[in-house]
Amino acid sequence: MIAGIETGGTKVICAVSREEEPERIVSSVRITTTAPAETIDAVNRFLDDVSTEEPIRALGIASFGPVNVEPSRARYGWITGTTKVGWQNTSLLDRIPLARAVPTTVVSDVSGAALGEYRWGAGRGLQSVAYATFGTGVGVGIILNGSLVAGNGYPEVGHVLVRRHPRDDFSGICPFHGDCLEGLTSGPAIMARWGVNASLLTGRARATGYEIIAYYIAQVTAQVTFALGVERFIVGGGVLGAPGLLDEVRQQLSGVTGGPLAGHGMTADPFDFLVPPALGGDAGVLGALAIAEGLVLHQPLTEVAP
Ligand code: ZN
Repeated sequence: MIAGIETGGTKVICAVSREEEPERIVSSVRITTTAPAETIDAVNRFLDDVSTEEPIRALGIASFGPVNVEPSRARYGWITGTTKVGWQNTSLLDRIPLARAVPTTVVSDVSGAALGEYRWGAGRGLQSVAYATFGTGVGVGIILNGSLVAGNGYPEVGHVLVRRHPRDDFSGICPFHGDCLEGLTSGPAIMARWGVNASLLTGRARATGYEIIAYYIAQVTAQVTFALGVERFIVGGGVLGAPGLLDEVRQQLSGVTGGPLAGHGMTADPFDFLVPPALGGDAGVLGALAIAEGLVLHQPLTEVAP
């Protein structure tokens, strides 16, 4: 058996499956994220329980961050400067005995979700896809030619700078950059600017808000695709739950990229290029299982932990 863990700021999902059928979860548990000791004890109890029947051979972990994902670093697998109370400087690997007993790899939560969508969701059958989430934060996970882009940290596309919309004078809320992509388009940024979630915008505020938010999401879609040549861009998260916002992004994408005459795949068939996720809330833990499967097959998506 193989195991996958997705640690999130509000809940942790643990799952096991068989390596020959990794996408079929055999057993799973959802744990509310409280203090690290209490939360990880519950994770360990689940792993102990399931491994009494059949040993677990590899473990994939997709974690909220900032999390150290470089195996060569001393503090590999540590959650570092998070705003989640009590979780600063928490070593996941030291607190999970299974991680020291079997091959284990840690990636960021968005990388995990990207892997899940790539293998079994909206990116299935393709070689290069990006998965972006717009929620509490903004993150982008990238699979390029079948490999997860990771290494020196992990892609921090959520903090790229974007061209400001001419009618947007909001200063942004990123504590580091102010008006970076996350500072302008995260759920908290939208709440700070309009006082409601994107899905509750109405009337003129909705028309203006959608145009502005979509303009920025279209820009990062174009930037990542121009730079890396991904075949599909999957975009999700709570912000994209606003009805009609994805369609607005598709329209803006045409303008940002120069329109159909620019001849890029992004605008040749935007409904096939820019798509919502297919796996819902299971993308992250399925990605963690995909990592574990790779470890068992000796084809690690990233390096194996020492
Ligand atoms: Zn930023």
